[in-house]
Amino acid sequence: MPPKSFGLERLAWTARTAWWSLPEHSIPWRSAEEIEKAQTACLRRILQHAARHIAYYRDWLRAAGAAPEDIRSVDDLRRLPLISKRDYDAAPERFVDPGIRDGLAIESSGTSGRARTIRYDAEALFRALASGRRQRLALREFVGKESGYREAVVHRDGSVSRQLRPWWEARLICPPGIELKRCWLSPLLPYPTLLEKLNAFRPEVIRGYGSHLGAFFRWVAWQGQRLEKPRAIVYGADAMSGADRRLIETELNIPVLSTYQAVEALRLGFECEQRDGFHLFVDQVDVRIVDANGCDLPAGTPGEVVISNLTNRASVLLNYRLGDVARWAAGSCPCGRTLPRLAGLEGRTQDLIRRRDGSQWAASAVLARLQAVAGIHQLQLVQEDFDAFLIRLVPARHTEPDAAELRAKMEEIFGPAVRMVVERVEAIEAEPNGKVKSVVCRMGAA
Ligand SMILES: [Zn+2]
Repeated sequence: MPPKSFGLERLAWTARTAWWSLPEHSIPWRSAEEIEKAQTACLRRILQHAARHIAYYRDWLRAAGAAPEDIRSVDDLRRLPLISKRDYDAAPERFVDPGIRDGLAIESSGTSGRARTIRYDAEALFRALASGRRQRLALREFVGKESGYREAVVHRDGSVSRQLRPWWEARLICPPGIELKRCWLSPLLPYPTLLEKLNAFRPEVIRGYGSHLGAFFRWVAWQGQRLEKPRAIVYGADAMSGADRRLIETELNIPVLSTYQAVEALRLGFECEQRDGFHLFVDQVDVRIVDANGCDLPAGTPGEVVISNLTNRASVLLNYRLGDVARWAAGSCPCGRTLPRLAGLEGRTQDLIRRRDGSQWAASAVLARLQAVAGIHQLQLVQEDFDAFLIRLVPARHTEPDAAELRAKMEEIFGPAVRMVVERVEAIEAEPNGKVKSVVCRMGAA
């Protein structure tokens, strides 16, 4: 546990955080020019810092014969090399400012299950806390207030928010009634116990992992369990299946919102009350969508998410391949917010289906075709060999899965020689990190 800060320091951070959160009610509506101005100011600051204190960028600038002033806008970031998670994991210390001691090293198990540590400086952490207000203001539409409500968080031990909350709380003065009344619960609890605890706490907002909350509320609905209804459900970290989201919103009549974050950038995007894609925190994190060659893609075309965290000076990551697949939303959002939008997440670049000829298919395209088969609520594809699959499926409530249609779809995609075993399950089981994979490859290395 971090040492409790002295009163004066707590007062100073509390005042600064409150100051940073003030403009949050107007930032999402600002003009593109105003947002770009804020972004450019952050970029200049982080580049100056990186050139001086971060070995990777200092060496790169020297080798390229460039100065930080040569990179004037986020568009110029394209001149910097793309960094993959593998580059970072091979030598994380090359991206770290060893002089910063006042922050927190956040560890994430990541979707791949591999641990990764990212250091944050104190200012970046308090700024992230302040900009959380942006999400709460969208949530206010459903909850009726932006603070003081009851929130249940269903996260495993060691999740990023479980690391952050105590760090913030030990360093801030929090007037009672302003901060939320929060209750932490584990996704490992059996459903009846989780439901009992939720009903006893009566949260106005329930937060958790998409796959877990989706499966849990499906159980609640299908079993006809008594539920003290929250005003909203917010999920992040992994996806909620479209079928589960529809079930919660239409049958249980609870609005579902999603947030987008990563251990490398604590705030990436949030859904507004329209719930149609993520508005991005582009004033703090630049986001690009690129193809396999690193070229920017237009709206509507799926590609890899590349981020530049413009606020964190402890581990500096610019032009960093996040491994998520997404596309830009076309047109403006009816909510009136001007912050650019991603049209949802479509999986991970590593969710691939391997072909005998050495090529690979994006899993999301294959899954979308299989999920359209009648009688399937949710499915997981386990690749055992090039043409052998185990399909785990959660049947729909009132319709039997159409086995013939599923077989026909598989043959259409993989050819008539495809072998498949179907396993009916009540829920797709989560990985040890608490997240559910829609595609699992059990084949050895190529
Ligand atoms: Zn919107």
